[in-house]
Amino acid sequence: MSRSLKAEMEMRGREDIEMGRDITPPIPPLSYSLHDSFLLSHCSACFSPLPLRPTFPHIPLPLPHLLSYCSPRCSTSDSPLHFSSAEFHLLRSYPSSFGESSDLRAALRFLYSLPASSGSVPNGRLAGLLTNRDKLLARTGYDEELVERIRDGARIMAAARKMREGHVAPEQNDFVLEEAALCLVLTNAVEVQDDSGRTLGIAVYGPSFSWINHSCSPNACYRFFLSSPPPCCSQARLRIVPGARHGLETQKESGVCSISEFSYGEMSENNGPKVVVRSIKRIKKGEEVTVAYTDLLHPKEMRQSELWSKYRFICSCRRCSSSHLTYVDHILQEVSPASRQSSSLLSGQDIYIDGAIESLTDHINDAITEYLESGESESCCKKLEDMLTQGLLYEQLGGREEKSQPVFKLHPLHYLSLNAYTTLVSAYKVRASDLLTLYSGTEEHHLEALDLSRISAAYSLLLAGATHHLFQSEPSLIASVANFWMGAGESLLTLASSSVWSIIVKRGLPATNLSYTLSKYICSKCSLMQKFRAILHHGEAQSTDLENISSEFLDCVTNITQKVWGFLIHGSQYLRVVKDPIEFSWLGTSKDSSTRDIQPHLRSSAVVSYHGDEGSFSVCEAHKCIFQVGVHCLLYGGYLACICYGRHSYLITHIQNILDPEECLINRFHETDEL
Ligand SMILES: [Zn+2]
Ligand SMILES: [Zn+2]
Ligand SMILES: [Zn+2]
Repeated sequence: MSRSLKAEMEMRGREDIEMGRDITPPIPPLSYSLHDSFLLSHCSACFSPLPLRPTFPHIPLPLPHLLSYCSPRCSTSDSPLHFSSAEFHLLRSYPSSFGESSDLRAALRFLYSLPASSGSVPNGRLAGLLTNRDKLLARTGYDEELVERIRDGARIMAAARKMREGHVAPEQNDFVLEEAALCLVLTNAVEVQDDSGRTLGIAVYGPSFSWINHSCSPNACYRFFLSSPPPCCSQARLRIVPGARHGLETQKESGVCSISEFSYGEMSENNGPKVVVRSIKRIKKGEEVTVAYTDLLHPKEMRQSELWSKYRFICSCRRCSSSHLTYVDHILQEVSPASRQSSSLLSGQDIYIDGAIESLTDHINDAITEYLESGESESCCKKLEDMLTQGLLYEQLGGREEKSQPVFKLHPLHYLSLNAYTTLVSAYKVRASDLLTLYSGTEEHHLEALDLSRISAAYSLLLAGATHHLFQSEPSLIASVANFWMGAGESLLTLASSSVWSIIVKRGLPATNLSYTLSKYICSKCSLMQKFRAILHHGEAQSTDLENISSEFLDCVTNITQKVWGFLIHGSQYLRVVKDPIEFSWLGTSKDSSTRDIQPHLRSSAVVSYHGDEGSFSVCEAHKCIFQVGVHCLLYGGYLACICYGRHSYLITHIQNILDPEECLINRFHETDEL
């Protein structure tokens, strides 16, 4: 749909495809490399973490930067390529000033696997993949840093290849092939993540994956398998076919070779992380299949500039090309000046809007970066909450000091607010656990830690609710929403299982009353548990099911949350402003009303103070609600994750472990028996 420069090729549905189906078999990479920082902790052939010992260095010399392998099998299959591609020579002589080397190494491995005849670069393609070299090195949109990196990188690659040949070749003046391979890696490589979401390295896949274009409202997503995929995934067929964009060129004319013409060189099918593409919407026969190359929760301008700087194309997808901003994109970037006193929107301050956005962005990003670098959780919480609650004053942006100061605030669903929530979830959690480790013992500290955990859980619920609100207008956000609901569920269930509750209810209630059996829990109002178990069993969702389940879930969870929200947010400056973390009609949907309504509103009637005399009943009630909301979030997030990642995903295993730990253990024993 949109990688206009990656150009003229696209993939289409070969048949009608339901949502939540694998549409490719596991595709092995053409080339792959770990990031430098994982070279000594992960296997360079399969990307899995190394066993503590033994490791299998491919040569017995204790040189720095050596690759490591998890097993003799991985070492045998990958180390020949490591040497023949000149990756070894590159690492040995690599100038540390050049930074990350994984793109260069992947390019070397790619070059080595090319058929010997591919000395020229026909129509800007290698092995069917667009190199994008002309665009990346072009004068228009000239990016000095990038051009320099490509030119120098190609020179370093060529030097390594020469070293491999073992003789001093005459000075080479052009590095077209190396440049093309490096540009191809920059354009086509995808980041490979492990189960915890860490980016381990990069991989380049053949046309069946790389010809899939980008859209900001895609209908497919992809996932990686570091170890061998379960049999059901391996049997999946390729359900997409290539098509030429303009219907004029045939594949041969466009310089595209078929997948089978490509030599895999010494790379065996067992090496490198495999990728599987999966539908997240219904796809009609002949419809273009698209995935996201960028974060879909970023606002339009940001996505456009990310896509331009990385791939040199201007996205023209439905979300980007509509004449008015879509609702989701409008919400993600909304910043309006409001009067501090009267809360009415002001006009005439538009000239300060750009400055306000820039300044708000800096403040939020600085607080987040500082937290990530220094771990200073308390000051980060304060800075972020101040900024979210108070916004920026007109005079801070260079306006005249006036009696009724206009104030610039972030919308609660602004992408910066969402980033802030993510950080606050973590920062409050860290504060709670620090408190318990530093001052174990006193009841006061335990209660304070519980306060902080409550706020952390409340932010995770708000994050899930906010993205869910956007998901209702933009179904391609399903993967993010799945993760946020699962996160909220886990956070709430951890909170519910905290031992501190027993301190609060020691006025007569034994702690055992507070433990619930997750696997036996059935909600009388919805069928979420049954639906979740059903999708685990059959593995296949239907779009109509999703609609029903979503509305059942929302009814239930909105209802229970209303009872307990006031309790969860007690003590947080910003969360008091949020009337409801799931149902956002209180914000209004029209442009003018969206900021006006963001005024502090404390639902004091709902606040249960366990320090007061309200008795143990309300605390118990609150605790029960937290548990119930937690289970609902976990199951719904799990249901969505099944659609995006399949039922064999580690995420689903993780949920099953929380739901029925014993049963999971038994199942695992059975699986071992069968082997
Ligand atoms: Zn391995
Ligand atoms: Zn777009
Ligand atoms: Zn329910």
